[in-house]
Parts: sequence; structure tokens; C-alpha cells
Amino acid sequence: LVGEAAASWTGPGGTSDGHRVEILANVQDGASSQNAAQKPVEGVGLFRTELCFLDRDTEPSVEEQARIYAEVLEPMGERKVVVRTLDAGSDKPVAFATIPDEPNPALGVRGMRLGLRDEGLLDRQLEAIAAASKDAAAPVWVMAPMVATEDEASWFAARVRSLGLVPGVMIEIPSAALHAERLLRHVDFLSIGTNDLSQYTFAADRMTPSLAKLNDPWQPALLELIAIAARAGRAAGKPVGVCGEAAADPLLACVLTGLGVTSLSSAATAAPLVGAKLSTVTLAQCEAAAEAALAASTPEAARDAARSLTT
Ligand code: PEP
Ligand code: MG
Repeated sequence: LVGEAAASWTGPGGTSDGHRVEILANVQDGASSQNAAQKPVEGVGLFRTELCFLDRDTEPSVEEQARIYAEVLEPMGERKVVVRTLDAGSDKPVAFATIPDEPNPALGVRGMRLGLRDEGLLDRQLEAIAAASKDAAAPVWVMAPMVATEDEASWFAARVRSLGLVPGVMIEIPSAALHAERLLRHVDFLSIGTNDLSQYTFAADRMTPSLAKLNDPWQPALLELIAIAARAGRAAGKPVGVCGEAAADPLLACVLTGLGVTSLSSAATAAPLVGAKLSTVTLAQCEAAAEAALAASTPEAARDAARSLTT
């Protein structure tokens, strides 16, 4: 039934009583953007730029980067695209950016920290994104991965704004979730990366299968951090999305909506399932499910409570 509902779901995203939640896709290159554009998604919530460069030994020129980014923007037409600046390092090594032989790469100089270390690397990428967005019909938002402090958010936002682009940051580190309200003094939106946020909240490597239970996106402590960020967004009147694996789970999508998240970005194949499920529940049901999931003692109990409150 869920598959059938997904096949006939055409968007836009929201609950049965009209509370809007944007349903977006995660992409990594022109081909995946073309594929996502065939789906009833409202845009791209996460363009993982580092995945374009996993096989590159040297940094592509600004012109070449701009061409690659344009290939992702173009299929989306007038639909919004959120471009993430290089998230190199740890599970996504990029030869020309990643620092080799760090003792603990997940806690090392990765993501935006590489831009803080080498401003030119970030500025050239931003220049390329700005160039690609000039010819695009789509609104282009730009966000930084692995931001830990208000200072970092403010530093990034200034650089992005100086190019006429819309700045945001990812919430992937507990310190950033706890200070979401302060980060929102500087940026226009937040996007919660639940894959890393759970890894750093539970001190459990996302690449270690035997720790998968700790990295279950239904962990109530993870939901608590999401709630803090969503509440900050609501208070500031700014969007707070989720773009990690959590956004691909239709039942969890109801909980995230109840917590106040404003967009859900997942693999293009999962997005219609998420949109279809959300369209069958009311905002009040989502809020009840969110409250029950936050109060649960285990991921399983959170799931069971949410299921019984949304069917
Ligand atoms: C995340 O961490 O949840 C995220 C969306 O980014 P990535 O999976 O690319 O690290
Ligand atoms: Mg991440």
C-alpha cells in the first residue's frame, strides 16, 4: 500500500491538514540530479560536492568546478538547490584536500575545518558555486558541513553573503545543536545531518556495523538534539531541515515534522515514500508521535509509540 501511495504521490510535501514540509532529494552529480528531477521533489536539500572529487588528485579549477555544479543545478529548473561545501575527510577522503595520517580523522581537520585552515580552498569553491548559480533559474543556498561553533557559522556566513548567496550551516556536532539559536543569528537556515550528529552524540563510529544500534536515528537523545535545533528555527522564523538518513524513514518523518523540522531531504527513491506517508497524517498526530518518541527509553519503544499514533 505504501508503494502504491508513493507512486501516486505528486507533492508538494505536507500533512493531511495542510502543514507544509518540503520534500527534497540528496544528490551528488549531474546524473543523480537528473534522476531526482523526475521525482515529485521540491528541490535538492543536499548536494554532496565532495563526492564529485573522490577520484581527483588535484583541485579542479574554478571554471571546471562551476561546470560540474551547473550540471546539478540545471535539471532542477526553478527548484531550490542546497549546495554543501566540500565535506572532505574521514569517511569521504578527497586527495587534494584531506590531511593524510591523522590519528583520528573523524575528530580531525575535516569538513569546514579544512576551509578554516586553507581559506583559498573554500573561497575558490564559493566562487565556482556563485558562477554556476548566476546562470541557474534555481535559488541556490550554500551550507557548510561540520560546523562546531557560533564563530565558525559567522565566519562562513560572511564569506557566502559577500558573493550574494544564501548561507546556512549543518547541525552535525552536538555543540552546534545546543547552540542552534546562536548560529541562527548569523545564517539563514540550518540542515541537520543526522548521520554525523548521531556518530558524535553517541561517540559511535558510523562506519562500524556493530555500533549500528547506537547510531539508530530513533535514539531519543538524538531526537532531543533535533528538537532543540527545530525549536530555535521556529523562534527565529528560519527553516531547519533534516538531510541525514533519518529523513528517509517515512515514520520518522512524521516524528521530525512533529518536532518542527521544515524540510526532509533523502535519496530520490525514498522521497516519494516519505511524502506519501506524511500526507496521511495530521500535524497533531505528528506532534503526539514526536512527544512520545522523545519520552521513550529506547529506539524500539520510540518507533512503536510513533507507529501506533500515526496509523
Ligand atoms: C550527515 O552527516 O547526516 C549528512 C547528511 O552528511 P554525510 O552523510 O554526507 O556526512
Ligand atoms: Mg555529515
